[in-house]
Amino acid sequence: MSFKLPSLKYSYAALEPHIDARTMEIHHTKHHAAYTNNLNSAVENTGMAGLSIEDLLKDISKHPAGVRNNGGGFYNHNLFWEVMSPDGGGEPSGKLLEAINSSFGSFDAFKEGFSKAAATRFGSGWAWLVKQDSGLIISSTPNQDNPLMDVADVKGVPVLGLDVWEHAYYLNYQNRRPDYIAAFWNVINWDEVSRRFRE
Ligand code: MN
Repeated sequence: MSFKLPSLKYSYAALEPHIDARTMEIHHTKHHAAYTNNLNSAVENTGMAGLSIEDLLKDISKHPAGVRNNGGGFYNHNLFWEVMSPDGGGEPSGKLLEAINSSFGSFDAFKEGFSKAAATRFGSGWAWLVKQDSGLIISSTPNQDNPLMDVADVKGVPVLGLDVWEHAYYLNYQNRRPDYIAAFWNVINWDEVSRRFRE
């Protein structure tokens, strides 16, 4: 059994003007594909072959750096494509909105906190909305780490993630990471984020 690069549920141009088609195409067919291939190579013919990605990540401190970097890259991008949609944007509703209000005070306060986490992550990494037993929390991780990993400062289940590696925005936004972060709110697939929150 090996890990497979998923297909996107929308075209590369579907998220324009917020995320451009060329960036989406390179991000999926080059970056995500490379993480997937390198993960398969890293686990091939080892005791790790056959483990689910979640099982690999939860004990990541026991595995080589190549599994951490590529396993994280594989999982994180799988999530990233799903939490975006050409029909996205707006605000969440229902239980997710209640949890956001209860954890952060308001949707606007959450939006400000998440945007700040994404903007201030130094170098390459991710911003996260994380589900814990006690509620929701915002975090960020370096490189391709994520909250499922035993090495993460903030552990839990990621329900929303934003890739702030330069490869995610540089073609269209160059050094303007805050503009890319602001645009992301227009494409968030809150139905999918809610589904992950309820699971
Ligand atoms: Mn990426």
